Amino acid sequence: MNFPILPGSTIGILGSGQLGRMLAIAAKQLGYRVAVYSPDADTPAGQVADVEAVGDYLDEERLADFAQRVSVLTFEFENVPSAASEVAARHTIVRPAGSVLHITQERLREKTFLRDNGFPTTPFREVKTYADLHAAARDLGLPAVLKTASFGYDGKGQQKVYAQSDPAEVFANLKGATGIYEAFVDFEKEISVVAARTADGKFAAFPVFENRHANHILDVTFAPAAIDPKLAKEAVELAAGILEKLGVVGLLTVELFVTRSGKIVVNELAPRTHNSGHLTMDACITSQFEQQVRAVCCLPLGSTALRAPAAMANLLGHLWEKGEPNWAAALSDPHVKLHLYGKTEARKGRKMGHINACGRSVDAAIARVIAARERLLS
Ligand code: AMP
Repeated sequence: MNFPILPGSTIGILGSGQLGRMLAIAAKQLGYRVAVYSPDADTPAGQVADVEAVGDYLDEERLADFAQRVSVLTFEFENVPSAASEVAARHTIVRPAGSVLHITQERLREKTFLRDNGFPTTPFREVKTYADLHAAARDLGLPAVLKTASFGYDGKGQQKVYAQSDPAEVFANLKGATGIYEAFVDFEKEISVVAARTADGKFAAFPVFENRHANHILDVTFAPAAIDPKLAKEAVELAAGILEKLGVVGLLTVELFVTRSGKIVVNELAPRTHNSGHLTMDACITSQFEQQVRAVCCLPLGSTALRAPAAMANLLGHLWEKGEPNWAAALSDPHVKLHLYGKTEARKGRKMGHINACGRSVDAAIARVIAARERLLS
């Protein structure tokens, strides 16, 4: 069904965090109504949506009722049980399809998909038993990274394994979960490609983003990435191949490593908008959120062109430790754009908002967002 879902229709979102909030704002700007569904109330997305439905992702009756009221259903969060998307698909159009979620919400399935389709990824092994761990270390060597196969993000459920690590302790840290043992990638930098695909196969990618992490959480993103344009082109072509192969209708983010020998390796896929794409809100003709709306509603995709070199700095919960951050000080640079997610409780490591800015150069944009963030504590 490739007919457009026009403004005035209702877009349903599963998940209600900050990605849903910014998606809802973009949808409202285009004249859509928005309904969100998640187990929580007064959520970042619920605060700006027309309807905030509260229900468990396993509550089939509620989900079915919700799905019946929306013209299209999309996601801001991929760890929704696949049963939820199956129930929804009986009542409305689901984009991307549940099959995309099924692959991308579990690291073993995701890496198997990538490897089997010839997309570059680090060698990996499944670890269910202590013997599997030994076999993986023998085959893939050390150091390595052992991750839980499901429900990991921002470095959670992940450990680096060294030659001197105690294997019993490493295995115990999995706490009974299935693990994925990945050969360590000696990377120079991390980049990402956020891309959209429509039901009739049209594709558009944002410029490649370069990402810097602190304590496993994204800290700063900038664009364009400081990489060889040929490599950037390769990363976008790789993303196009992945979206095509998965049959994505909507948005998908490809997180990649650039190795010290100048190769790209896929780390992870997310079937949605991404933290690294937040700078598109102020730096691109079309934001990643507007692009998701356009893609899932079968409207023509918007231009992804960057207006100027740009950067984004995340605002995490620790900035609230000594009281309310100094917003006026951060905004004293008139080029700085502040985005807050409406979260009332500022826990350490929790993503509370971000700052975007453009500059004459990438370095100038980075300096601008970092200085603004530092002024929050003045
Ligand atoms: P992930 O949860 O898979 O996104 O991993 C979080 C972070 O851990 C990545 O951004 C990398 O910095 C690091 N990392 C993950 N997998 C590997 C790997 N196979 N080799 C080296 N570093 C990794």
